[in-house]
Amino acid sequence: MSEYDLAIIGVGAFGSAALLAAARAGARVIGIDRFHPPHTMGSTHGETRIVRAAIGEGVAYTPFALRSFDLWDELARETGAQLVNRCGLLVLGGVLPHATHVAAGFLETTIEAARRFDIAHEVIGADEVRRRFPAYAAFDGDAAYFEPGAGYGIPEKMVETQIKAARAHGAEVQFSNPVSRVVEAGGHHEVTTAQGVLRARKVIICAGAWMNTFLPPAWQAQLTVTRQTLHWFDVGAQAPAFSPARMPVFIWDDLYGFPQVAQGGGAKIATEVLSDVIDPANPDRSVRPSDVAHAEPKVRAHFPQLGRHLRSAVCLYTSTPRFDFLVDAHPDMPGVTLVSACSGHGFKHSAAVGEAVALAALGNAHLEIPDAFRAARALSV
Ligand SMILES: Cc1cc2nc3c(=O)[nH]c(=O)nc-3n(C[C@H](O)[C@H](O)[C@H](O)COP(=O)(O)OP(=O)(O)OC[C@H]3O[C@@H](n4cnc5c(N)ncnc54)[C@H](O)[C@@H]3O)c2cc1C
Repeated sequence: MSEYDLAIIGVGAFGSAALLAAARAGARVIGIDRFHPPHTMGSTHGETRIVRAAIGEGVAYTPFALRSFDLWDELARETGAQLVNRCGLLVLGGVLPHATHVAAGFLETTIEAARRFDIAHEVIGADEVRRRFPAYAAFDGDAAYFEPGAGYGIPEKMVETQIKAARAHGAEVQFSNPVSRVVEAGGHHEVTTAQGVLRARKVIICAGAWMNTFLPPAWQAQLTVTRQTLHWFDVGAQAPAFSPARMPVFIWDDLYGFPQVAQGGGAKIATEVLSDVIDPANPDRSVRPSDVAHAEPKVRAHFPQLGRHLRSAVCLYTSTPRFDFLVDAHPDMPGVTLVSACSGHGFKHSAAVGEAVALAALGNAHLEIPDAFRAARALSV
C-alpha cells in the first residue's frame, strides 16, 4: 500500500493550493480528485473570480486574502503564468435596499478592513464613479469603495498552474478517482479510492459541493449546496468602457461582475440565488430561461448600455448557515482537516487557506485559522 505524509481529497481551488504548499515544504503528498481538475462540475469555473483584499464579509478574512495575493504573485513569477489582473474593484451601494453580496453592512465592513490593514483605497461618490469608470451609471446617492490593487483571478488557470507547480515540486496526483471512505487505522488513515487504498499520516478534505459525504451525520444538514448562474452580456460599441483597462470588477447591490476579458466574449454579470438548493450527486447544470429572466432586469437596471444576453453557465455554492467558512478537524478523526470554504466568496482566500491547512497538518503552522471558521461557530446559527 502506498504511504504518504499527507493525502488531499479534492484538488479544486483549495486542494490544489494545499497540494502546492505541502509539496513546496518537501512532504510526500498526494492529491486525489473524482474528476480531472480544472473542470466545470464544481465551484471553480466560469472564467473569472473577484479577488480583493479588504473583506466586507468580515475583517477576520483579510489576512487570508492578502496572503493569497502574495502566493499568486510568487507562483506567477515562478511559472510565468498570468493569474491575476489587477483592474481594481468597486463596491457600490446605498440607494437600493439590498444587502450587498449577502452580508449586511458590506460596504462599511470593507472600508473598516481597508483602514485596519492599510489597504490602498478611495471612497468616492456617484459623480466620480461615472466620470472615471464610464461603464458604471452609478445611481445618485450611491457611495463607492475603490480598491486599485484588487481585480480578478482566472480560476481554471490558477488551479491548473497550482497542480503543475505542485507536481514539479514532487506531489503525486490521481484524477478520475473518487474517494469513498477515510478511516483512522493505527495512527494512520486509510483512504479508499476507486483505484485502491492508500495510507496517509494526515488527510485534508476539500471536496467542495460533495463535502457532505465526508462529514459526520450531525454536521451534514448544515451545509447547503445551491445552483448559481453566471451570465455574459454583449458590450457592443461600448467595448472600450467595458475593458479591464477602464472597468474595475464590481459588487453593486445584489449584483457582481467583471469587465469583458476576451474580445467578443461579453461582460460577465451575476446575482446570487440562495433558494435553488440541489443534490450535488445529481445536479441540474442546464441553464433555464427562468435563470436569465431573474438576472436580466437587474443587469439592465444597473447597466442600461449593455447589449443582448450571450450565454450563461451554472456553478455550485456550498454554504454554511451564516455564509462563513468551515475549516476544522473532523470531530472523530483529529488527523483529518475538513475545508468547506465557499459560501460564495472563498476563491480569493484559497491559496492562503490551502497553505495554512497544509502546513498545519505537517506540523508547521503558519497562518492561524480564526475561531470564526471552526465548527463550533461556523455551524451554529
Ligand atoms: C458562481 C460562483 C461565483 C463565485 N464568485 C467568487 C468570486 O468572485 N470571488 C471569490 O473569492 N469566490 C467566488 N466564488 C466562490 C469560490 O469560487 C469557491 O469558494 C471556490 O472555488 C471553492 O473551491 P473548492 O476547492 O472548495 O471547490 P472545488 O474547486 O469545486 O473543488 C472540490 C473538488 O473536490 C473534488 N471531489 C469531490 N468529491 C470528491 C471525492 N469523493 N473524491 C475525490 N474528489 C472529490 C471535486 O471533483 C472538485 O474538484 C464563487 C463561486 C461560484 C459558484
